[in-house]
Amino acid sequence: MIYNEEFETLPREVLESLQLKRLQQVVQRVYHTVGFYRKMFDEAGITPDDIKTLADIRKIPFTTKQDLIDNYPFGLFAVPMSSVVRLHASSGTTGRAIVVGYTKRDIDTWSELMARCFVAAGLTKNDIIHNAYGYGLFTGGLGAHYGAERLGASVIPISGGNTKRQIMILQDFGPTAICCTPSYALNLAEQGAAMGVDMRSLNLRVGLFGAEPWSEQMRDDIEDKLNLTALNIYGISEIMGPGVSMECLEDRQGMHVFEDHFVVELIHPETGDILPYGEEGELVFTTITKEAFPLIRFRTRDISRLITEPCRCGRTHIKMDRVTGRSDDMLIIRGVNVFPSQIEAVLMNIEGLEPHYQLIVDKVGSMDSLEVQVEVSEKIFSHSDEVRYLQNLERRLSEDLRDFLGVNAKVKLVEPKSLQRFEGKASRVIDTRKR
Ligand code: ADP
Ligand code: ZN
Repeated sequence: MIYNEEFETLPREVLESLQLKRLQQVVQRVYHTVGFYRKMFDEAGITPDDIKTLADIRKIPFTTKQDLIDNYPFGLFAVPMSSVVRLHASSGTTGRAIVVGYTKRDIDTWSELMARCFVAAGLTKNDIIHNAYGYGLFTGGLGAHYGAERLGASVIPISGGNTKRQIMILQDFGPTAICCTPSYALNLAEQGAAMGVDMRSLNLRVGLFGAEPWSEQMRDDIEDKLNLTALNIYGISEIMGPGVSMECLEDRQGMHVFEDHFVVELIHPETGDILPYGEEGELVFTTITKEAFPLIRFRTRDISRLITEPCRCGRTHIKMDRVTGRSDDMLIIRGVNVFPSQIEAVLMNIEGLEPHYQLIVDKVGSMDSLEVQVEVSEKIFSHSDEVRYLQNLERRLSEDLRDFLGVNAKVKLVEPKSLQRFEGKASRVIDTRKR
């Protein structure tokens, strides 16, 4: 099923000429309304008229998070505040919050994109959607909410937290779909089980999980524990919020970027060079329809790949691979680069370990050290030779980390349910070097 059949299946040439037209318009607009862009263009020696083809976008310099911080809070808005109907802020996972604004039309666009996501997940107005993304300044809650209403589904605006109550509502209201972070999905599964609820027999059919990196192994685990189809959804406040890209039910390999509203590029995180399709690099987005807070060539720091193969769902929009993490979350352990999500993938392949882990990075002398703390499952304690079993698990994990990722890590197995649980975005890394 496709929400906006016309725009989601445009032939590539038509889509690209639409993108060009919209790009030219937005570039004209920001040049004339936002001092920051006027200066950027002038310094680069270009004018909006230099954008004659889509590839000409490469003549424009990048916009970075630092530029947003420097213009905090409203410096990059392209409309007067009287036209702004909503403000949100990024959750500030990395440093200072960034404020984003929306006009009435921006909210309309965003609602449509989220409605497209729900339909890509197989939902209709007959569905009941349990929306456990946080409501408030964070874009997740209200973004998904408006999309669900646009679709005409029944939305439960439960927001994050109060997990016992959520479990009660999951049983009593019988939602068919759930939206939350993958780590919160696991948290719900675990607390439900602890309350004696059979979390596999709820009415849930599908989950839209995002807002943080997660692995394919985590997907399997969530699907197993909640007995639903788990889909990946990507969003970033600066560009829109949730609904920048979404997996389709038919394929589940990469998320379609809604290209009639965004131009996506992939660059080398250090050199800034455009990378060929298929290579891994940093995502860069340009919003081509946003009114209040357009962004031109915004460097997300999110690491992914672009997938150009046609999709069997019929959508013509390009896909982006699962985001492994942000370049600033990448750990460098004695010269080896590794993302927490890669460690997650390794540990989840080992039976007896749970998807609850914490990474402690430290410096011993001049050497970086990494400790992986991971919970073992309850079942282990019924094992006849428990101690040997634990030792084997520990050895196996440190071997796998070395073999698959090339990192030397100290593995520490910890008791079930002893590590922190999360209601929104998980925070996996404790870097004691930064204290
Ligand atoms: P913050 O930067 O404060 O976390 P946001 O709430 O806007 O701000 O979060 C956006 C970020 O969340 C993205 O840049 C990305 O790193 C992460 N993210 C969102 N969706 C996904 C996803 N499906 N997979 C991996 N990471 C994601
Ligand atoms: Zn598809």
